[in-house]
Amino acid sequence: MSNTDFVLAIEDLTVSFDGFKAVDGLNMYIDHNELHVVIGPNGAGKTTVLDLICGKTKSSSGSIKFKNRELTKMPEHQIVRAGVGRKFQTPSIYENLTVYQNLEVSYPAGRSVWGSLTFKRTDEVIERVNKIAAEVLLTDLLQTEAALLSHGQKQWLEIGMLLMQDPELLMLDEPVAGMSAKERDQTADLLKRICQNRSMLVIEHDMEFVKQIAHKVTVLHQGKILAAGTMDKIQANEKVIEVYLGH
Ligand code: ADP
Repeated sequence: MSNTDFVLAIEDLTVSFDGFKAVDGLNMYIDHNELHVVIGPNGAGKTTVLDLICGKTKSSSGSIKFKNRELTKMPEHQIVRAGVGRKFQTPSIYENLTVYQNLEVSYPAGRSVWGSLTFKRTDEVIERVNKIAAEVLLTDLLQTEAALLSHGQKQWLEIGMLLMQDPELLMLDEPVAGMSAKERDQTADLLKRICQNRSMLVIEHDMEFVKQIAHKVTVLHQGKILAAGTMDKIQANEKVIEVYLGH
C-alpha cells in the first residue's frame, strides 16, 4: 500500500520544547476504518501526538497528511473542517441544555461566528440528531438535561457531538476513564460501530479495553515508537513488558 492510500500518514514528526524532544521522528499510518490505539507510560508523548494532529501544537519538523492534505501548517479550525474531530478527556458538554440541544448546536452551522448558540430545526438537522443519538445510545434521553446524565453517558454525548460534525478521523483521549465495567463494554461496542465508516485514534491505559477494540496498537516511549502491531504481538513484546505492561 502506498502512503497516499492512508487516511492519516505521519512521517518523521518531531516536536521539541526547549530542546526536549517530546515526539521524536515518529512514523505512523492509519488506514480507513482502522481503530488505532496509542499506549505507553506517562510522559511518552501520546497527548502531544494528538495535539500535533489537531493543530493545537505545531511541529518542529516532519509531516502529517490527512487524506493527502498537509496538516502541519493548517490552523486548528481548518483541521476540524477537513474532517478531524478530537475529544479531550473531560467532557465539554452544555450541562444546562438537553441531550437533543447539545447535539443540535454541534451541527456545523449550529454555532454562529460569535460563538453564541443557534438552534436550527431543519429536517436535515432533526434527522441527523436522531441518527447520532441512536448511535451513541442516548435516544431515550434526548429530552434529558445533560447535567443529569451519568459520567459514561456524558462521554457518549460528547462523542455524539463530534459525530454531528461528520469527521472522518476521530481522536479520543482515554474514553473509558472513570466508567463502570458495563459502560466500558458498551463503549467498546460503540467505538467499533463508529469505525465501520470512520477511522479512530485512541489513547488508552485500560488494557482490557484496548484488547476489546484495537485493530492496531502503537507503543510510545520517550517520544519514539517502541513497538507497533496487533495487541497479541504487543503483549508478547519483551521491551513493551519491560517499560510499560509489566508495571
Ligand atoms: P503522555 O500523554 O504520553 O503522558 P505528553 O504528550 O503529555 O505525554 O508529554 C510528553 C512530554 O512532553 C512530557 O515530558 C511533557 O512534560 C512534555 N510536554 C508536553 N507538552 C509540553 C509543552 N507544551 N511544553 C513543554 N513540555 C511539554
